[in-house]
Amino acid sequence: MENFIKQAAMDLIRSRYAIALTGAGISTESGIPDFRGPSGVWTKDPEAERRAYERFPQFTVDPKAYWEERLDSPSLLGDLDNIMPNPGHYALSALEKMGRLQCVITQNVDNLHQRSGSQYVVDYHGNTFKLRCFSCNVRYAQEAFDLELLRRENELPPMCDQCGGIVKSDTVHFTEPIPSDVVTKSVEEASRCDLMFICGTSAVVYPFANLPRMAKYGKDEATVIIEINAEPTPLTDDRISDYLIQGKTGEILPRIVEEVKRLADPH
Ligand code: NAD
Repeated sequence: MENFIKQAAMDLIRSRYAIALTGAGISTESGIPDFRGPSGVWTKDPEAERRAYERFPQFTVDPKAYWEERLDSPSLLGDLDNIMPNPGHYALSALEKMGRLQCVITQNVDNLHQRSGSQYVVDYHGNTFKLRCFSCNVRYAQEAFDLELLRRENELPPMCDQCGGIVKSDTVHFTEPIPSDVVTKSVEEASRCDLMFICGTSAVVYPFANLPRMAKYGKDEATVIIEINAEPTPLTDDRISDYLIQGKTGEILPRIVEEVKRLADPH
């Protein structure tokens, strides 16, 4: 592992435009369960995964019932208000401050990259602290609507004050299309980068899992692709990643930061 950490730091220093893709694994050390790891939400409760497939069809057919059910259901991920970023998140924000990392594209909905100080974050599957107009994609802070009041006054679903469209949670449900602005930004970043970290994702959720393939095969210039994950993934097996640093993101990413500092300033 030591050699791979040194290699990753050298690759990063040589890179022109590095980005990071992240998944639920980077937040497990903050106490948020992942979905498909050994203690994951779906691993332990496959019925919860089946129910999750019902959310988006319900929104399209009956947005009022969608909101009522959402207000009555506790988050599968726990109390995200009181969860803190961990050393993995802080390492990525440190790399951004050092000018070594340009962007984080995360599948996570937990807002922890932003809370750790990262400035340029693309929430690929939305952000649980935001709502989004399903027609025009405008995002609202969740406090912009008093959802309980709307429920009491029989005025759910919330409506967009920009275009009159129906507002849903910003989080992207199974079978829901990725918002078009997010697709555009992510494809731009994956096409532009010459180094991609992929941290804590099983890489089985599409279209997110296409981004590494796009970086690898979508352009003439070679892209160095480095996975940091507790276990091998299809990206490892299909040799999309150049190498896997196997272990915890909260331990490996800070060590890469230290190594970059050491190499950049050997004194
Ligand atoms: P996943 O659950 O499918 O896979 C997580 C991967 O991370 C697994 O391979 C696991 O072995 C690995 N892992 C777990 N802890 C790790 C650690 N400390 N260090 C390194 N690797 C670790 O997650 P996914 O690929 O992101 O897909 C799940 C989907 O569910 C995502 O799209 C996301 O939107 C959503 N989700 C979000 C959160 C969150 O916001 N924190 C949590 C669970 C699920």
